[in-house]
Amino acid sequence: MRSPSLSARIGIGLLSGLLLGILASLGGWTELVRLWVLPWGTLFLNGLKLVAAPLIVCSVLSSFASSAGWPRFGVRVVLGFLASTATAVTLGLTLCALWGPGRDLDPTARQALLDRYGGEAQQRAEQVRADREQSFVEAIAHMVPDNFAAALSDNRAMLELVVAVLVFGLALSTVPRRHTENLRAFLEGLEALLLKLVQLLLHVAPLGVLALMAALVVDVAGSSLNRLLALLKALAGYAGVLAFGFAGMLVLYALALTIGSPLGWRRFWRAFRPAMLVAFSTSSSAATLPVTLERCERELMIPQPISRFALPLGATMHMDGTALYQAVAALFIAQVLGAELGLADYLRLGLLVLLISVGTAPVPGAGVVMLVLVLEYLDLPSESVALILGIDRLVNMCRTVLNVTGDAVVATLVAFPRRSAD
Ligand code: ASP
Repeated sequence: MRSPSLSARIGIGLLSGLLLGILASLGGWTELVRLWVLPWGTLFLNGLKLVAAPLIVCSVLSSFASSAGWPRFGVRVVLGFLASTATAVTLGLTLCALWGPGRDLDPTARQALLDRYGGEAQQRAEQVRADREQSFVEAIAHMVPDNFAAALSDNRAMLELVVAVLVFGLALSTVPRRHTENLRAFLEGLEALLLKLVQLLLHVAPLGVLALMAALVVDVAGSSLNRLLALLKALAGYAGVLAFGFAGMLVLYALALTIGSPLGWRRFWRAFRPAMLVAFSTSSSAATLPVTLERCERELMIPQPISRFALPLGATMHMDGTALYQAVAALFIAQVLGAELGLADYLRLGLLVLLISVGTAPVPGAGVVMLVLVLEYLDLPSESVALILGIDRLVNMCRTVLNVTGDAVVATLVAFPRRSAD
């Protein structure tokens, strides 16, 4: 008998984790899950994070070292990223403006949400207050770290690390090949080792995903699933717009793959599903990056120079799900507060979200912190982020799936474009 595929095994882990979490919530064994189940998830997550930073360094540098063609595909990758994020933002804004979920939020539900999550919202607002004083140029300047080792050792500084290795990579591509033979051999060896580790981690992925899901349900629902259901009911319109937006983007990806690449979406879907499931359960593009790279290179056969350039860059700078979410959430909050937005505000909001999603760290919950910035630019009180915090864990999981899928879709389209003869 054939053993189930990797994505089937991870899917089973995910569902079992969900079930275990629900049973634990109902039976009041939440502490038991936290003490005995969650550590397996932490182990899996730590394994992924352990591999992620060195893999970024190796993969970006070797992409520049091994290919002279990077200016050509590099431009296509960046244009692809911009086009897909602009599409996500437009889709989110259009759906939310037409549907108007914030316009009919019950005033008592609004007050209850503000009271319940106001404190947490305050904390997030304070987190961004220091950054808000920066000018645009200052923000760019801060993206270049002044200490390579510090960027390498801080998982939250993934964006800075990618920018640093891109600078190193650009310089490396101008050094004559005869001087870089040893460096290339070293990078190749190290990379083979790291990808081996990823394959080993994928064997334990079902258990890791099970543990993360069970702990998440216990965390969100506590000992009362009713609280989660009540929240979902209060925010049904907001959740509905997001669900349509996320599903709409997946359909657009499938269309783009069908029209734009001979590979087609079915093959993509089969190969990439495990990475989507890992993204869903970890809520982190950075932690999923090792799996994204492994899937794209081993299963989709994307040439390494392209995958190693596009995927680390995409994981930190290209976030379709986060951009769509920030656009919808900001507009939803504006609707709830009765703020009137004109066409110019929509354009401003769209552009801002596009830029801000580039600077959002690829870690759980970073998107909501940056949302505070968006609200402040729109002159909306940042504390009103409390309105959507209740279901943000769930939203975070879904937007992370879109974030990693968008990177792989663009890499696939650049690697295997449909030519007229196909
Ligand atoms: N968790 C997301 C990611 O890692 C970022 C976010 O919070 O939107 O892709």
